[in-house]
Amino acid sequence: MDPLSQVSEEKRETQKQSTEVDATVYLNFMKSHRCYDAIPTSCKLVIFDTTLQVQMYGLESHRIETWRGDSLRNVYLQYPNQLLVSISPEASLFDAIYSLLRHKIHRLPVIDPESGNVLHILTHKRILKFLHLFGKKLPRPAFLQRQIQQLGIGTFRNIATIQQTATLYDALSVFVERRVSALPVVDEQGRVVALYSRFDVINLAAQKIYNNLDMTMQEAIRRRSCYVEGVIKCHPDETLETVIERIVTAEVHRLVLVDKADVVKGIISLSDLLQAMVLTPAGIDALVS
Ligand code: AMP
Repeated sequence: MDPLSQVSEEKRETQKQSTEVDATVYLNFMKSHRCYDAIPTSCKLVIFDTTLQVQMYGLESHRIETWRGDSLRNVYLQYPNQLLVSISPEASLFDAIYSLLRHKIHRLPVIDPESGNVLHILTHKRILKFLHLFGKKLPRPAFLQRQIQQLGIGTFRNIATIQQTATLYDALSVFVERRVSALPVVDEQGRVVALYSRFDVINLAAQKIYNNLDMTMQEAIRRRSCYVEGVIKCHPDETLETVIERIVTAEVHRLVLVDKADVVKGIISLSDLLQAMVLTPAGIDALVS
């Protein structure tokens, strides 16, 4: 082998090794930190006594069996016997991510195994924030500069959406059937006009409109008590770094992937990002159903 091709061969080998190191940066970070490390020094945790009665005007005057068959009750009774998924403070953040994604949950209680005390509730957002705060000195993996369409991060097929003219009842049915955390609300051309999330459903109870499920999605969005600033979107040719930046800055759980005409093409959620950054390099796919 001539000296020049030997140099380029060595260069290729070094590049290959650094790409491999690159890919496992976030995986190693999450494996080497415990759930305990990600608990903020000061935070509030509200603990409810399970014997407390639901004291909500209108709700307590209802007998559950007299509720409409299509009321919120069905949403909750769909999964009556699920066990509480929790994690020990000594477990790694890698295990926490796996658990959040595998069980398709958005909140993971950190419970001290000896006392049984709940120390904190971990979320995707908290874990990414911890990475943001303490991972500043980590090398920046090359895949951050690649386009999300090349990386294939997110869900691109069979996206659960809801027409803006459909009813709240229709939306609740889709939540129950598909077990997704949010639905892009679309017009007749499939263009996204809003996002309706499970969190909005919980707010129905607070707004006492849980018996008025015939209203259209347009109306439900208009009556939303929390101010929501448009829909945060992204495009297939944007880089992973841009997408992470946008989702973290907006403090949202997901972005709607759209084409140039705003037609829904996919969803990229914090679950997809954690899967791609941490679990895929470990050869694990926790999002398969
Ligand atoms: P999440 O619970 O939002 O973190 O998402 C879990 C998985 O479901 C991710 O792979 C998302 O891309 C996917 N997902 C979220 N919302 C939808 C939706 N409306 N339709 C299809 N897939 C979704």
